[in-house]
Amino acid sequence: MSSQTVATIDVAALGHNLRRVRHYAPASAVLSVVKANAYGHGLATVIEALHDTDAFAVGTLAEAIELRKISPDKAIVILQGAADPADLSICQKNNFQPVIHSPHQIEDLRTISAKPLKCWLKINTGMRRLGLAAGDYDDTLKTINNMAATQKPLVLMSHFACADEPDRMENRHQINLFQPLLERHDGETSFCNSAATIAFPEVHGDWVRPGIMLYGISPMKDRTAAALNLRPVMTLTSRLIAVYEARAGDNVGYGATWQCPENMRIGVIGIGYGDGYPRHAPNGTPVVINGRRSSLVGRVSMDMLTVDLRNQPDARPGDEVVLWGEGLPIEDIAEAAGTIAYELVCRLTGRVDYQLKQT
Ligand SMILES: *Cc1c(COP(=O)(O)O)cnc(C)c1O
Repeated sequence: MSSQTVATIDVAALGHNLRRVRHYAPASAVLSVVKANAYGHGLATVIEALHDTDAFAVGTLAEAIELRKISPDKAIVILQGAADPADLSICQKNNFQPVIHSPHQIEDLRTISAKPLKCWLKINTGMRRLGLAAGDYDDTLKTINNMAATQKPLVLMSHFACADEPDRMENRHQINLFQPLLERHDGETSFCNSAATIAFPEVHGDWVRPGIMLYGISPMKDRTAAALNLRPVMTLTSRLIAVYEARAGDNVGYGATWQCPENMRIGVIGIGYGDGYPRHAPNGTPVVINGRRSSLVGRVSMDMLTVDLRNQPDARPGDEVVLWGEGLPIEDIAEAAGTIAYELVCRLTGRVDYQLKQT
């Protein structure tokens, strides 16, 4: 049985994109962010392809435990840190590096055994999600440095809210707040996600934390992946499962939201929101069939979507269709569907088969 819907992962592109990170941040170590199943690309495949990274970051303790099974040696940072003292003990046992972002986590550190744990200290400089106030830096550091359960020195980190739009004032405010701490922190530092790694070399610090650019997706709002010399890692394909002739005035799909303007061929593709294709993709969203662009007509349904085949006289059931990836930037699909490429790659479901690109 051949799979209908396939996410093909280009392992060589992952290596290329990691080299692009090092090109942008030649003096920093790379903490490759592989949360959410490596942004939906498949953790085991991505870990192996990124063997040249300096460390990995995940969102949660559960993700760290999964990652430790396939990466016994690399450092693993947990961006959400530990929820309670039991989590901290698990971090000690497995050599995980939790981020300390809240006072309750500092209290928890008092209660665990003395085995020193390497921790990251997160300061909120304007994202206002996780992190302690910049004004609390000195007191907090003093408190933590007096604890037997932490390795000295801590790694100091913060996170940008608007780095994908480098000209926004908010970036300047965050840099102005964090730069003095970066300069006087006695220990390693980290500030930059993918967008900031490209946009703000003056604050790279010791560790950059790229996620999305490793997967070949542009982190910048107004620059394409190709312009940044990033190569898409995931190409999502499915197949035409039916082709038919519709008449002028015929409605297509749920809600009858599209009418044929003339007699025309319609193609049915075997992918829908049940596979993770966005239901909000409107009429006109592109797909590529046999190397040529076509566009969606009518609503995306759970298992299928319908396309205009007027410019595809030779398209036949069984033909391969590219939904995004090589030759069709995922950023374009995300924009059409009113979301970001991050969400599209994370949302693929268990129906999709993963394969490696044969080179
Ligand atoms: C997810 C995440 C990153 C990576 O962000 P990208 O935009 O994918 O590069 C970096 N740092 C933190 C704290 C994150 O949560």
